[in-house]
Amino acid sequence: MTLLELRGLNKHFGGLHVTNSVDLALQPGEIHCLIGPNGAGKSTLFRLILGEYSVGSGHIYFSGEEITTLKSFARIRRGLSVKFQVPGVFKGLSVRQNLEIALQSRHRGAVLAQEIDRLLAFLALEAEQAQSASNLSHGQKQWLEIGMAIALKPRLLLLDEPTAGMSPEETHMTGEMVRRLNAEGVTVLAIEHDMAFVRQVAQRVTVLHLGQVFAQGSIEEIVTDERVAAIYLGQAHA
Ligand code: ADP
Ligand code: MG
Repeated sequence: MTLLELRGLNKHFGGLHVTNSVDLALQPGEIHCLIGPNGAGKSTLFRLILGEYSVGSGHIYFSGEEITTLKSFARIRRGLSVKFQVPGVFKGLSVRQNLEIALQSRHRGAVLAQEIDRLLAFLALEAEQAQSASNLSHGQKQWLEIGMAIALKPRLLLLDEPTAGMSPEETHMTGEMVRRLNAEGVTVLAIEHDMAFVRQVAQRVTVLHLGQVFAQGSIEEIVTDERVAAIYLGQAHA
C-alpha cells in the first residue's frame, strides 16, 4: 500500500500558482528525494503535507486514509514528522535536555534515559550531550534537529534541505543517518540540492518545477535527462 499519496494538489498565494496539480506517491520503505530550482514550491509542498498550509484543492492520503483537512498534530500522531530548514532546537538547553523534551511525551524514567542514550549514539552527539545546544557546530545542530524529528519513531520523515551549509563530510554522515533510519523502517522524503547526497540516498527522485512534477525516476534517469539539466542541474551542487 502507498504510504503517502498526493492527488491533484493545488495551492495559490494570491495570483501565484505555487502548487500545480501535484500527484506524488511514496511507497513504504523508500527514500525519495525532491529536487528543483529555488521557488519551485518544494517547501510549500511539505507545509501542505504537514497541514501548516491548507490545500486549495486536491487530496492527501496517508497510509490509505485521507488526511487533507486534518490538523498538523493529528497528522504527527499518525506518524508524520518534518524537519524544516529553520532551526528548531532549544538553544538555552543542553543537547540531552533537547532530546528529553522530544521523548518525554512517550517515555518516563529509565526507559526515557535509555531512549535518549540511543538517540545520542545514533546522532554521534554522545560527547556533546551536556553542552548547550547553542555551542554545537552548524552540522551538529542539524543532527540534533533530526534527532528531535525522529524521537517518536515516525513512519514518514520529511527533511527540508537537511545538509544545507554542511561540509562534504557532514553531508555524507547525514546521508548515512538517513540510510540507517530507512533500514529501521522509516520512509523518507528529502528536499535536497546536494547531488552527492541525492546519489548517496535516493531510490527515486522527483523534480519539481514551477509547482509541477516535471520529471520522476531513478537518480541515473534524472541526471541524464536533458530537460532536467536545462531547468535545474546547472544550479545544483553536482
Ligand atoms: P522552494 O522550497 O522550492 O524554494 P517555496 O515552496 O518556498 O519554494 O516557494 C514557492 C513559491 O511560493 C515562491 O515564489 C514563494 O515566494 C511563494 N511562497 C511560499 N510561501 C508563501 C506564503 N506563505 N505567502 C506567499 N507566497 C509564498
Ligand atoms: Mg525551500
